[in-house]
Amino acid sequence: MSPFPTSTVLGYPRIGPHRELKRALESYWDGRATRDDLDRVGAEIRERTWRRLAELGLEGLPSNTFSMYDQVLDTAVLLGAVPARYRDADDPYFAMARGTEQLAPLRMTKWFDTNYHYIVPEIGPDTVFELDPGKPLSEVREARALGYETRPVVVGPVTFLLLASALDRLDEVLACYEELLSVLAAEGVAWVQLDEPALVADRTPEELAAVRTAYERLGAAGARPGLFVATYFGETGEALPVLAGTPVEAIGVDLVRGGVPGIDLPGKTVVAGVVSGRDVWRTSPERALAALAGVRAGRVTVSTSCSLLHVPYDVAAEPRLDPALKERLAFAEQKVAEVVALSRTAFPSSTAGLVPAAPSVAPSVAPSVAPSVAPSVAPSVALPAPVAAEGRGPYAERAAAQAERLRLPPLPTTTIGSFPQTGALRAARAAVAAGTLSREDYERRVEAEIERVIRLQEGLGLDVLVHGEPERNDMVQYFAEHLDGFAVTANGWVQSYGSRCTRPPILHGDVGRPSPITVRWAAYAQSLTGKAVKGMLTGPVTIVAWSFVRDDLPLRDVVFQVADAVREEVSDLEAAGVKIIQVDEPALRELLPLRRAAQDDYLEWAVATYRRATSGASDRTQIHTHLCYSDADQILAAIDGLDADVTTIESARSGGRILGAVKAFGRGLGPGVYDIHSPRVPSAAEVEELLRATLAVLPAERVWVNPDCGLKTRTYEQVEASLANVVAAARELRDAL
Ligand code: GLN
Ligand code: ZN
Repeated sequence: MSPFPTSTVLGYPRIGPHRELKRALESYWDGRATRDDLDRVGAEIRERTWRRLAELGLEGLPSNTFSMYDQVLDTAVLLGAVPARYRDADDPYFAMARGTEQLAPLRMTKWFDTNYHYIVPEIGPDTVFELDPGKPLSEVREARALGYETRPVVVGPVTFLLLASALDRLDEVLACYEELLSVLAAEGVAWVQLDEPALVADRTPEELAAVRTAYERLGAAGARPGLFVATYFGETGEALPVLAGTPVEAIGVDLVRGGVPGIDLPGKTVVAGVVSGRDVWRTSPERALAALAGVRAGRVTVSTSCSLLHVPYDVAAEPRLDPALKERLAFAEQKVAEVVALSRTAFPSSTAGLVPAAPSVAPSVAPSVAPSVAPSVAPSVALPAPVAAEGRGPYAERAAAQAERLRLPPLPTTTIGSFPQTGALRAARAAVAAGTLSREDYERRVEAEIERVIRLQEGLGLDVLVHGEPERNDMVQYFAEHLDGFAVTANGWVQSYGSRCTRPPILHGDVGRPSPITVRWAAYAQSLTGKAVKGMLTGPVTIVAWSFVRDDLPLRDVVFQVADAVREEVSDLEAAGVKIIQVDEPALRELLPLRRAAQDDYLEWAVATYRRATSGASDRTQIHTHLCYSDADQILAAIDGLDADVTTIESARSGGRILGAVKAFGRGLGPGVYDIHSPRVPSAAEVEELLRATLAVLPAERVWVNPDCGLKTRTYEQVEASLANVVAAARELRDAL
């Protein structure tokens, strides 16, 4: 077996440096481009990636890290786990991902503690696993035709099945992986990477036994490539000795989030993730080399802590960033260069395949000189102790005061905040940035859009209105642009799901709110209508979760700084006459540590930051919160602890499983009845059915009727039709109450 390359990355961004894949996908979905057009763009992105990685000097090039939508969905297809109902669709792959006129899509949820969303495989009694190795094989061949030998990357069997809640199907799935190994071996592939991030979370003895079974069996496969099992997003812990006891040749460990493994791994190659795939800071060569030197293994090679999917492409594409900040930054391109430089420093004769040279010598090729956070960051202000909810009275009193003030009908209808972002608005923002449109003209257009959204909602008969968020490019970036301590990027796109990307801001200094941010838009919207308009803010945890964050302060302290800024905004909104304020915390669960031992502490401070942000509101002001996931089971107590008067939560796609869980909250609840992730328009009958299911579990006087999330990604056509059906369904049931 050839030795594992001395430098590699676990994966690379794939949306394209200028989001070429996004555009190609959306053109294809809209019928403006053919499948061939789309495939051509995919091939160009793959080719560019391999060429670039090779140019930067990386030795081990991954393949099959490209995806038309999601790597978990790709793995489901690889294993033949395509539910029967999608097989006859025009394009079963995108039908599973996005739904069709007739079919709801598969469920989507967040990938571990990232803001990347994967498609949850659906495995049931009818699932027949059958290997379809087309995609990894064709990528290997495609790279080979360009002159590159690659290491295909596939989600590993244990993680795949855990994500699908189907670990009992291990035996069948392993047969497919065995076949895959033999197909890849026949193709002359030297190494395969099986991603097992699930191994960094707490695992039961049965699950660890499954790890042993899986890798003993795959290790025993006849002709096969070298097996590289990549664990990431934290410390591998108890799964590491288990893996070490199997025949796998290489094990990937995350040395950024986890410590140096405490055990000797004599017969193994450790692929040491010392360059972070989760932040944008340059790597400290001293720290990285010390970590490499600490690993006791047969062989050590240098890698990223996880796939670089979670960082943008290139710092060089950011001409407007402050040069002093830029110095401290590394995006995917820079991180690859760091991996290469570290590997060359740590292993001067790179083909040796030996234990690393003593890295006590300062690196000759410094991958970066700046420590990950420059000392120029001003020391933080001392933070006052967390404020509890003492500012607000008990719920019953609040509810009475709010009912009196708001006078809403039963089953009030509302939306989550954003309305479709039109191309015209985005173009107008770009024109302001380019200096071809004046601020005043832009603001008039935003006002016109707010007016249109208000009239639309009045026409549809919604009860609580929103201004539609037309002034926001993004729910986090917009706030980052108006707060001190943040920088925003021009091209720092990171894939969120499918064709969707965000540009996470960079939180690099102390946070402050120099002036009100949303008040003028909220007040303007309220001035147009007699109905209540909800003010719309992003919560402190979410602002931080969806940013790249300074690493010289505990995360908790950073979030409290943001909470104070939000608290000031809440108070200014109230003063401007806004009666309902929604503070979204869709990322509350995302930051939940993967290990149980760390979770309680996190949840305690996270809830405290939310309360700090909202507890200045009077009892007459109704506080809403919004969370975008249905698998809230682990954080229910925390959601309850937010003490929001109304909680809206994703539910439409999940068959009502959230309802029983949130039932115990004694406050307002809006389980989503319209899945906004899909272009499909739900019928009134469908919405009514979801509402009936809701009312069977929750008392009617606490139920709100709303979509799963904001409407920003949909078209007006879809939204108008869908909301009309939502309102019709609510009225129907309201009359029957
Ligand atoms: N208010 C935001 C919106 O409607 C919430 C988005 C979210 O939860 N992701 O767009
Ligand atoms: Zn949401």
